[in-house]
Amino acid sequence: MNIEQALHQRSESKCELCAATDNLHIYEVPPSSNGSAEESVLLCASCSEQIDNPDKLEVHHWRCLNDSMWSPVVAVQVLAWRMLTRLRAEPWAQDLLDMLYLDDDSLAWAQATGEGTEDEEVVKHLDSHGAVLTAGDTVTLIKDLNVKGAGFTAKRGTAVRGISLVADNPQQIEGRINGQQIVILCKFVKKAI
Ligand SMILES: [Zn+2]
Repeated sequence: MNIEQALHQRSESKCELCAATDNLHIYEVPPSSNGSAEESVLLCASCSEQIDNPDKLEVHHWRCLNDSMWSPVVAVQVLAWRMLTRLRAEPWAQDLLDMLYLDDDSLAWAQATGEGTEDEEVVKHLDSHGAVLTAGDTVTLIKDLNVKGAGFTAKRGTAVRGISLVADNPQQIEGRINGQQIVILCKFVKKAI
């Protein structure tokens, strides 16, 4: 049985991270996979693209780790650890990371790509009261905002549903008001409970 067959058998022909069944391919776990089944996983195109390109990260895609991090396959645990580490500004990701136990050898492997070792602070987006904002939250405006270029004023108290976070700027979120996607300063919103 070759590696590909072994991986298909192990995974039941599903992406070992998100269980997708399309566009599967062998992914050799960086940085130094020997190409064996133990050091490879079967991934869908979406998972491997996001692993290799941090700027393509779709946060909610990785909710799948809630299941796949419990895989008995160490290579899968290692990838789960790396992605949860990358996502740990999200409370759910930090929670999963806290539950994901790797033995010393596996942890060393997981850390071998440098994920999580850069000592930059995790960027947190805080609302006007210091509550942590996460993608998908609903917030309300705490003051009237003049929306530049759009020609309207967003009134205080307006609810903005399903916000997204501006990744490289902890002062800003994005949300849709009057059908327009706009950037909003975190200090002008309050997270809806
Ligand atoms: Zn996948």
